[in-house]
Amino acid sequence: MTTPTRTSTRPKRGEGQWALGYREPLNPNERMKKDSDGLEVRQRIIDIYSKNGFDSIDPGDLRGRMRWMGLYTQRAQGIPGGKTAVLEPEELEDKYFMMRARIDGGQLTSDALRVIGGISTDFGRDVADVTDRQNVQYHWIRIEDVPEIWRRLESVGLSTMEACGDVPRVMLGCPMAGILEDEVLDATDVIAETVEKYVGNPEFSNLPRKWKTSMSGCVDHCTEPEIDDVSFVGVVNEAGEAGYDLWVGGGLSTNPMFAQRVGVFVRPDQVTDVWAACTSVFRDYGYRRQRNRARIKFLMADWGPEKFRQVLQDEYLKEPLPDGPAPAPAKHDQRDHVGVSRQKDGLNAVGFALRTGRISGSLLSTIADLADEYGQGRIRTTTQQKLVILDVADERVEALVDALAAHDLQVRPSAFRRGTMACTGLEYCKLAIVETKQHAQDLYAELEKRLPDFDVPIGINVNGCPNSCARFQTADIGFKGSMVRDDNGEMVEGFQVHLGGHLGVEATFGRKFRGHKVTKAETVDYCERVLRGFVERRTDGESFAH
Ligand code: SF4
Repeated sequence: MTTPTRTSTRPKRGEGQWALGYREPLNPNERMKKDSDGLEVRQRIIDIYSKNGFDSIDPGDLRGRMRWMGLYTQRAQGIPGGKTAVLEPEELEDKYFMMRARIDGGQLTSDALRVIGGISTDFGRDVADVTDRQNVQYHWIRIEDVPEIWRRLESVGLSTMEACGDVPRVMLGCPMAGILEDEVLDATDVIAETVEKYVGNPEFSNLPRKWKTSMSGCVDHCTEPEIDDVSFVGVVNEAGEAGYDLWVGGGLSTNPMFAQRVGVFVRPDQVTDVWAACTSVFRDYGYRRQRNRARIKFLMADWGPEKFRQVLQDEYLKEPLPDGPAPAPAKHDQRDHVGVSRQKDGLNAVGFALRTGRISGSLLSTIADLADEYGQGRIRTTTQQKLVILDVADERVEALVDALAAHDLQVRPSAFRRGTMACTGLEYCKLAIVETKQHAQDLYAELEKRLPDFDVPIGINVNGCPNSCARFQTADIGFKGSMVRDDNGEMVEGFQVHLGGHLGVEATFGRKFRGHKVTKAETVDYCERVLRGFVERRTDGESFAH
């Protein structure tokens, strides 16, 4: 006799997908968005909060909707990492904000960079971070100063609109778009058109979660389309026409997934509509019940690219898209555009490393002046916390290299300095467990001393918590901040190590080895051991990743 299979009569719980009728607010974030659209906070900041001060801010705005305007409350100074998980949000924050200015495509004029620098100097204690998503972040911002900051940013075509929140975040583009001879195509116009039409548009101001976009024809895939929610990757089809391959569903954080090719060819004139259709699929079918499943990568993992394509075409575009080829693999090992590159007009682009993205507003203003003096006032931010000055004539390149070096901005940095990135970390981030920026700077400086001849490209990404803002899973050596036990049995700041992550051909996430936990103090010894081992074992020309 066989045992009958038990089938549950309980209805399956929905995932909170609007398209399937689950419209009710399902968690506090969804409720917050339903109560008042995030975009509405802008007027309240201008009319009420900036006039009446921090204490007048509605709690739903303070820790929710402010993000739609690029504002997060800042971590109060002096709270150790061990307290992050046990304190309430209001105990962790002070009365200042972190503010993010979006720089779509990383494109800046010298005037814009001077304004960015001036804001840091005048309102943010002269601190700024160039982020790994081409943005600039400020700290120490007072709510009273926000309208004036916006006025200044808007005077040079910039804004903080939707720089954070469950919305279309900054759209990544190659900093060399339109500049290099060998690019597949220039995505500058499609980024500008999409931003113009949809950023700040109520159609997409309530998405299930953040929505990260890249659009690029860079032969090095420098915008890292593998880990964006939606990416348009430059490709040439069989007819010799340049367009884009559509990838959807990448993302890191605690459940890293690589984007999948949808398999369609998108002409440049279709990009904005196809982007809007993808965003609509996310808005309507994204999982809103649990916030930690709300990124599109979870939907994509369940649906697969065929179903995504079918829904995209049948329900949103109302027409099929042709099949398209996959893009060629990245041409170079490093995707950061550091160093001197020849532009197609015969001038040069000069890319340089800051100190893990941390810089002063005054120095940003100085860089703007250098871009005027040596170039034609065009500057780019990269996705690796670096900057590029464009349009430098051959005979002026070395003088610019020296002028930058005088401010410790390195056009030819060591492998360690070039390859090290760090997230905001404990200094200002409420989610952080570990301090990162200074630690990462100390780490590369010490490795430069201990391994002076090391010349292989190496990525060392230092993160203050599992959220992976500085992408620990895709680094050769990825550090994920956590509390770890030291030799005396005390819990101290440290890291879980992830080794061997890389993007591109055979992309893989770094592996977490059992026991690979180090205290902050042990980090440099650990890196030295791993790197010396690699040098001893490597065969000619072998990179760290392969
Ligand atoms: Fe903050 Fe964590 Fe992101 Fe670092 S990785 S900036 S600590 S949320």
